[in-house]
Amino acid sequence: PQLANQIAAGEVVERPASVVKELVENSLDAGATRIDIDIDKGGSKLIRIRDNGEGIAKEELALALSRHATSKVHTLDDLEAILSFGFRGEALASISSVSRLTLTSKTAEQSEAWQAFAEGSQMDVKLTPAAHPQGSTIEVVDLFFNTPARRRFLKSDKTEFTHIDEWLKRIAIARSDIYFTLTHNSKLVRQYRPANTDIQSQQRLAQICGRAFAEQALSIACEHDGLSLRGYLQSPQDTVISDTSFFYVNGRLVRDRLVNHAVKQAFAEQGVEHQPGYVLMLTLDPHQVDVNVHPAKHEVRFHQSRYVHDFILQAIQSALLQMPD
Ligand code: ADP
Ligand code: MG
Repeated sequence: PQLANQIAAGEVVERPASVVKELVENSLDAGATRIDIDIDKGGSKLIRIRDNGEGIAKEELALALSRHATSKVHTLDDLEAILSFGFRGEALASISSVSRLTLTSKTAEQSEAWQAFAEGSQMDVKLTPAAHPQGSTIEVVDLFFNTPARRRFLKSDKTEFTHIDEWLKRIAIARSDIYFTLTHNSKLVRQYRPANTDIQSQQRLAQICGRAFAEQALSIACEHDGLSLRGYLQSPQDTVISDTSFFYVNGRLVRDRLVNHAVKQAFAEQGVEHQPGYVLMLTLDPHQVDVNVHPAKHEVRFHQSRYVHDFILQAIQSALLQMPD
């Protein structure tokens, strides 16, 4: 099983940023409202994620580290209607197979916290009592220590940290209700305070996409027949080239050409040639979309992609029409 875990790790764990992604998504799935991320040396030395979510019960700590152990999918119907980030139950097993991983957690029911430690191929998980408030801390030390080829593939600490920072920006925009901090080599680099009002969301947008983008952006809010699109679109008058192109489907950041195409088309119709920046969140019936296309889950497949495309196009067209001259 260890070899299988390491092979799975090759698909799930490309670099420190992919570890951060999997762990933060677990924290979000656990209902955390605050997530603190500490990184040392671009993540190759340490990745520590601390959350105030529901925690993992003592009896489930060892299980959480084993492959295909997921608490999130119970039936085939669950699998067809995934709303949580995780569902494969392989992230923790994969990460622990290529690092020294410590999991510390406490649930609301427990009076004390417990800690499990797993190191590379040694999967005999030891449980010891620990001090921790409700929630979980996952510490990943010496990533790829036992897979030297992968370790050599890592870029400089600065580059690896930038990948983490960029990924966090994308999540922090979509989840402006969550308090995030990001520390690198003990220095606080980002602090995203929770935004519960429109003004606070706007502030977070400015923090991440720049003040100009946030001040001029068109708001999108469109609903039709079970589909909903919300977010921000760079104003056609704003000619600054923006690299903000964040698209989320049911809260999940995805790569998809469909939205780019729709945005471009709507702008071209207005005689604007450049590709505008956007932050767009699409919500639809989870049965209408497959998220199981790729293990790292960056891609989705819409059952009616033409229909979704046209909905996005119309939402943007009407936002452009309502724009004050
Ligand atoms: P998946 O997310 O696909 O279920 P993972 O390997 O990422 O699989 O996690 C395995 C299990 O460990 C999860 O299903 C969940 O029950 C538990 N778990 C992991 N991280 C956390 C966390 N931060 N808080 C609470 N439970 C967690
Ligand atoms: Mg997961």
